[in-house]
Amino acid sequence: MKKEFDIENLIRKNVRGLKPYSSARDEYVSDGSPMVFLDANENPFENGVNRYPDPQQRSLKQELANKEGLERGNILLGNGSDEVLDLIFRAFCEPSVDNVITLPPTYGMYAVLANINDVENREVWLTEDFEPDVDKILDAADSKSKILFLCSPNNPTGNSFSRKSIVKLLENFRGLVVIDEAYVDFSTTESWISHLQRFPNLMVTQTLSKAYGMAGIRLGICWASSDIIAILNKIKPPYNVNELTQQKALERVRDAASVKREISRILRGRERLVNALKSIPFVVHVHPSDANFVLAKVDNADRRYDQILKAGVVVRNRTTQPLCTDTLRFTVGTEAENEKLIEVLKSLQ
Ligand SMILES: *Cc1c(COP(=O)(O)O)cnc(C)c1O
Repeated sequence: MKKEFDIENLIRKNVRGLKPYSSARDEYVSDGSPMVFLDANENPFENGVNRYPDPQQRSLKQELANKEGLERGNILLGNGSDEVLDLIFRAFCEPSVDNVITLPPTYGMYAVLANINDVENREVWLTEDFEPDVDKILDAADSKSKILFLCSPNNPTGNSFSRKSIVKLLENFRGLVVIDEAYVDFSTTESWISHLQRFPNLMVTQTLSKAYGMAGIRLGICWASSDIIAILNKIKPPYNVNELTQQKALERVRDAASVKREISRILRGRERLVNALKSIPFVVHVHPSDANFVLAKVDNADRRYDQILKAGVVVRNRTTQPLCTDTLRFTVGTEAENEKLIEVLKSLQ
């Protein structure tokens, strides 16, 4: 059953009528010719960052768009995907009226942002094998359900969701479906951004924080139809991605070979870590991973967490998360770091 989709019906009323703030750098866009810039009250003495950054991040977006065969107008960039996710809440969810649907155990920021924005968070747990429970999700949805968050590969479970389930949700959920692909570069499944044409309610978020090795610069990416991106552009802070971040990100995205090399090393490290974990007596189960971390069930997560910490390695204890009792999440590190972790695990009594 195909549904009608009109993005206008999902926008918050006040956002629908908004005109975006027009900054100096929106009104006059430099084409590189030698102009005298006396429009933005900047300090004129050159130091590399004395000018405001491009509010539309044109060079970086063009590079990303070319890589994926899409347009600049399909991209919104933010100060990490956390800002991107917050903008999505603020554009579409009326506080104390609308709701979103999330699928625990999953990334904690969706719930945090729902709380901050005073938006009801309807939690529909994943099934025992960490897949979306499609029927329960559709049952939980009503006319006020604006956004469904699918994290695939999912944090902290590490698996990618079945494509069939995702398609069913895209076809039947009447709001926006945000697929968070923070870990997609470690996955054997392909990104959903090639399906933006087919599903007008699809939004895909990505980040330079994981595979691209740039958590420190804060660069999040949102891919969606140009209609959806235009709405987010109305409410984004004009200079939300600073000049240094734009420069660093551009260099890194252009250096695809280095990124690919590091991903290969991380994937080899993941395989090594999974195999080693399976031979540790107190490890009960190792969940298959499509990401740069491994979730493992142990005999007693609190006790093992403390022991591992005392030995100088910080891991993540996920035991309080739904369906994650007695699990620890191990990020894949360098070869030496992985060996250190394995040595510590082997030594524990
Ligand atoms: C790490 C992570 C992010 C990254 O967020 P940034 O703000 O871009 O650093 C996004 N989503 C998930 C599921 C993550 O685990």
